[in-house]
Amino acid sequence: MIKGKTQGFSLKKFTAAVIGVGGLGCNIATHLAGAGIGRLLLFDFDKISETNLNRQFLYTKDSIGEDKVFEAKKRLEEYSETVCKAYNIKITENNIPEELKTADIIFLAADNLEARKALTEFSEENKIPLVFGGIDGFYGKTYLYIPNITPCPECAGIIEGGKTKSNISAAAGIIGSLQAALGIQYLLTKDISLGGKITVYDSDTFSSLKIISSPKCKTCKNIQRKKDLDD
Ligand SMILES: [Zn+2]
Repeated sequence: MIKGKTQGFSLKKFTAAVIGVGGLGCNIATHLAGAGIGRLLLFDFDKISETNLNRQFLYTKDSIGEDKVFEAKKRLEEYSETVCKAYNIKITENNIPEELKTADIIFLAADNLEARKALTEFSEENKIPLVFGGIDGFYGKTYLYIPNITPCPECAGIIEGGKTKSNISAAAGIIGSLQAALGIQYLLTKDISLGGKITVYDSDTFSSLKIISSPKCKTCKNIQRKKDLDD
């Protein structure tokens, strides 16, 4: 790769965190490294199983039984200049490493509710934008939360993860790629109009739903009530 500038722009000065390197996370991390992000903080606590291989393309048969996060780091560093740091931990309210505060943006690609809630709170406290993604069968959605600017994930109704066991690998590809594109665009432009909207992919339909925060929401009380977001 050409140093620092891979797709006509430079993301070298940015650090992104990817929480979960499964179906969504493999896509997100691959697109971020491919776009030349400077640093990636990767989080997961799972091991690779054979059933992961159909969609979690950073892993091969030789990786079965290994820790996902270390394998992901190895694969990403094989072809990109991105510096990856791997955390083989389960994120909870009381278990978030200090280094996550250095992230310019966090990508949420884990379907466990505890981690999603803990990271929403962390993001709000540290004013770090958070890109949500979730898939459920053929269906998926993304949401960019910008603390103090957009409605919080609770108001957007996207805290809950997927409920269907049989997720389609193409849906993980579409939603993971959309998360990466949304996050990269936000890092480059800081355009707040990218936030506060749920983008929904439902088999063959894309749509955007603008979110309005609840006046009773504790997280959204400090929101800068931009006319374009609340209309
Ligand atoms: Zn709220």
